[in-house]
Amino acid sequence: MTRQGLKVLLDTDDEQEATQWITEFLTQVRQEWPKKPLGVILDIDNTVIMTPSRRRALGVTSPKLALGTAVYAEALRLGFQVYFVTARGHTEQVRQFTESELQHYGFGQHEGLFLMPDVTRPTVESIGIYKTAIRTMLHQHAAPIVLTVGDQWTDLLDLPPLGRPPRLADQDYRLLSHQKTSHRYLAVKEPGLAAVGVKVPDRPM
Ligand SMILES: [Mg+2]
Repeated sequence: MTRQGLKVLLDTDDEQEATQWITEFLTQVRQEWPKKPLGVILDIDNTVIMTPSRRRALGVTSPKLALGTAVYAEALRLGFQVYFVTARGHTEQVRQFTESELQHYGFGQHEGLFLMPDVTRPTVESIGIYKTAIRTMLHQHAAPIVLTVGDQWTDLLDLPPLGRPPRLADQDYRLLSHQKTSHRYLAVKEPGLAAVGVKVPDRPM
């Protein structure tokens, strides 16, 4: 079963091409609605900042991810409200650490940082429910969300009805394209959702 009407707008393994596509998309949206408050949601781990385990695996010293960094800067430059939504557990300590980490790596300018309630057991489904709820809340009460970027499908696709886990989205995509999605940059649009979702690779390239 595929997610009905899911449109694939971009499918590439080229980070620069994906970055350019997003930049052009944001520029176009801004031209269309020059004054309107609009929001962009970014995941943190392996979207703007590489996790310590991946840093070690790849032997890199700078954990800043190029696409996430560029999208963050471009969104601010074009006057979008930037929100960070992460599955990191919400304790005061984690919030402070995450805020200072964002500051340290140059992501300190944002309209909101949302951490997952610590009581929630982090499964793909609970993360999907939480991220969908935050996206919906922001879209309805803060600013229409035009773009979401993340390394997991739960960062972009809303939890399907009847509690079907969002992990199925990956299989759905494979059915559409007959290829694995883990190493690719994909822009997708779901019918009924205002935002375009961009999935960045969830495995080291
Ligand atoms: Mg992530």
